Amino acid sequence: RPRVVSGVQPSADSLHLGNYVGAVRNWVDMQNDNECVFFVADLHAVTTDQDPATLAQRTRVTAAQYIAAGIDPERSTLLVQSHVPEHAQLAWALNCITGFGEASRMTQFKDKSAKQGAENATVGLFAYPVLMAADILIYQAHQVPVGEDQRQHLELTRNLAQRFNARYGDTFVVPEAKILAESAKVYDLQNPTAKMSKSAAAENGLLRLLDPAKKNAKKIKSAVTDDGTEIRFDREAKPGISNLLTIHSALTGRPVDEIVAEYEGRMYGHLKVGLAEVVTETLEPIRSRALELLDDPAELDRMLARGAEKGRELSVATLAAVYDRMGFLSRA
Ligand code: ATP
Ligand code: MG
Repeated sequence: RPRVVSGVQPSADSLHLGNYVGAVRNWVDMQNDNECVFFVADLHAVTTDQDPATLAQRTRVTAAQYIAAGIDPERSTLLVQSHVPEHAQLAWALNCITGFGEASRMTQFKDKSAKQGAENATVGLFAYPVLMAADILIYQAHQVPVGEDQRQHLELTRNLAQRFNARYGDTFVVPEAKILAESAKVYDLQNPTAKMSKSAAAENGLLRLLDPAKKNAKKIKSAVTDDGTEIRFDREAKPGISNLLTIHSALTGRPVDEIVAEYEGRMYGHLKVGLAEVVTETLEPIRSRALELLDDPAELDRMLARGAEKGRELSVATLAAVYDRMGFLSRA
């Protein structure tokens, strides 16, 4: 069975709707036909400032949301990135075959470092895409389901796999990105030309999986809309309404055109009310299941420990092959 790897950073108290639509939701069905590894990307999270007092809890909260959304820790491997040291060990090797200029072209780094001020950006943030390549290549993944924002990082991953294979002999599977392009990207409700993001969004722009339905409904009702009154899909002229339409479509599985037809002649407010209902229906069961799981952190930690064991079984051989091919003396 093809192997699939993906992860989300525990960089906030809750996942947001973009993480769900662009990532976690797609993982659930993939479990049927693939051998899946899903991880909580805590090593990635510390590429931007994290409070040590909350990171561990956020890691649990993220794992609980995976399970609540439908990731089955029996069928899939569910682990915490820092529990499997092979990720970081492979990342070092890959850092040493990545060009400085190549890494400098990554737009996510440019965006995030610009936000922080170039002087505050860390080497870790710069090397983030290489660690991401390691996350994928260490498991010999065939497919990587990610949001549109990760396309460039996936391209780097493929380049690094091919480069390593050419230089040191066939070692890595060259993975394919599985991106649900248009419908997979959710934008900030207050700033609908920027993607919804844990770290960047204005409070009111973000729909959190673990927030009460009422709070999310309120945010939808105060979402920024566009000039005019007509409900139609037009990303350029009507980014706000287009975002509401894509979220609706992503959650109901109905084509955007059909939703536009349903709201023909009605007002923005009607679409918002309808969308708030759809979002509540989707998120409420996830929220309540996640809170249930978080009531028993010891059991959750045991699940993650089993996941880490499975993850190590899948990754030790690849790391050993890499170190051997690079010429490192094996320990007697
Ligand atoms: P951060 O701001 O800390 O980078 P993030 O919100 O971008 O957080 P990540 O943990 O970086 O979340 O990304 C996890 C997954 O969620 C990735 O597969 C990414 O493509 C997807 N994702 C993130 N934001 C969105 C979005 N707005 N729309 C669709 N998918 C998204
Ligand atoms: Mg991100």
